[in-house]
Amino acid sequence: MITLQSYLQGQWQSGEGEGAPLHDPTRGEVIARASTAGLDLLGALDWAREKGGPALRAMSFAERGAALKAMSKALHDAREALIEISIRSAGTPRSDAKFDIDGAIGTLAYYASLGRGLGDRCDLVEGEGEALTRSSRFWGHHVKVPIRGVAVHVNAFNFPAWGFAEKAAVALLAGVPVITKPATATAWLTVECVRAIVEAGALPEGALQLVSGSTGPMLEHLGEQDALAFTGSASTGTMLRGLPNMLSRSVRVNVEADSLNAALLAPGVEPGSPTWEMFIRDVGREISQKTGQKCTAVRRILVPEALVEPVREALAEELGRVRIGDPADPSCRMGPISTAAQRDDVLAGIDALVSAGAEIVYQAERPELAGFFVAPTLLLARAPEQASAVHEREVFGPVATILPYADMDQAARLVALGLGSLVTSVYGDDPSLLGPLLREIAPHTGRILLGSKKIADQAIAPGMVLPSCVHGGPGRAGGGEELGGLRGLDFYMQRTAVQGDRALLDRLFGVSRAKD
Ligand code: NAP
Repeated sequence: MITLQSYLQGQWQSGEGEGAPLHDPTRGEVIARASTAGLDLLGALDWAREKGGPALRAMSFAERGAALKAMSKALHDAREALIEISIRSAGTPRSDAKFDIDGAIGTLAYYASLGRGLGDRCDLVEGEGEALTRSSRFWGHHVKVPIRGVAVHVNAFNFPAWGFAEKAAVALLAGVPVITKPATATAWLTVECVRAIVEAGALPEGALQLVSGSTGPMLEHLGEQDALAFTGSASTGTMLRGLPNMLSRSVRVNVEADSLNAALLAPGVEPGSPTWEMFIRDVGREISQKTGQKCTAVRRILVPEALVEPVREALAEELGRVRIGDPADPSCRMGPISTAAQRDDVLAGIDALVSAGAEIVYQAERPELAGFFVAPTLLLARAPEQASAVHEREVFGPVATILPYADMDQAARLVALGLGSLVTSVYGDDPSLLGPLLREIAPHTGRILLGSKKIADQAIAPGMVLPSCVHGGPGRAGGGEELGGLRGLDFYMQRTAVQGDRALLDRLFGVSRAKD
């Protein structure tokens, strides 16, 4: 039995008592335990603020970028061991384990390169500034400096490596120390990521700490200079952002929550055409990859009424090719759901969709294994605007519902019924339809992937979050924004308007300009 430790104040530490169990989702056995009882979690906040913050702020962006590169390399060097832990503790086949771990390695490397590009600076200045009066001397700049507190990152169970790394990369590059808290159910992988980074000596003391288990009283003690970035369920996100100190002390809070992402096949796409093939391939992948446990997975499949049956058939064929079983078997492409509770939630979710008027139109066979398996399931809601649960309940597994639409107005209305999504994908080639549609759906989604024949063989599926593009969405999706290149740093930096003599300000903040 493994006891997961936390890494606090420069030490690996075990909590008291039995702790919470972690299961092997393929067999259902308990494989590890985690507890933070008795650990000095408030001391960890001070450690970050007093040791990690000053150390990071003393580093230039290029130096912080070099530290991120060292983190990326540490994970890369440990990659094989990390993949094994992912297979065992999260039930991911090798390809899904790589998706998570390589995503972590790549995101750290991407932010490392942004740091290198920013060079010797320690803070940022927006643009060239502006004259504030008729005088060309009295000038205004907006400067961005790291907040003086700590970034606490609370992550969901589905991406124990990438979820940790994508948040940490941005905060650390901004110059803010991190305390990362993975979901307990799959925390083993995060523990080993942090261990690899600590052993590589990639970061200054206090820049990165890890909580394996409950955060105890920690979040109630965040203040004006701290930040909380959360990924998980809408209910937990709502509760955390509503804590009295978050509200009264204006703590920065970013929430990534539930999302009923839509994939929309536009009219005029012929079955068998490159755009059609791209649509079927992407939707099939989004349903089965990571066993559908991706915040960006497709949950609603919008299809012109006349194409419902060809789409159903093609998706059933696509899903029928996915081998489900023991993730340690190299031929297996889909593993179990990560926890028993999530498995039960997925099964209850399918029932809720059926009660709302959807019918199951394809279901694969569940393997005869003891673990938390759910077969890929495709539903059809013939009256899509009436089937409210289809737009409201995120069934966090290999499950999606086909929704027929009559015209573009109805298609846009159906997308909006999700009340805010992380990503919407649209597949079509007719610009006269696509332009108005994109403008109509953009306010309801954080990212749009437009699939068309010219990129059918080179685009990345919509579920893949790229560090250069914003990740987050309005409304139900939490209203947050992460990544997006340098945009992501804004969450960890105070933007301050500074007014004064232009030449002096330029000098103070390292702004160079052509002579007037
Ligand atoms: P969750 O129960 O909301 O947990 C998310 C994180 O919050 C975990 O680290 C959890 O820690 C922590 N947490 C829960 N209660 C807390 C509290 N009172 N104080 C501090 N931390 C607390 O979500 P989940 O089980 O990971 O995922 C469930 C659902 O979240 C999914 O079904 C899906 O709907 C949604 N989800 C959304 C995204 C997204 O990016 N949009 C990603 C994944 C999941 P413990 O594990 O220790 O309880």
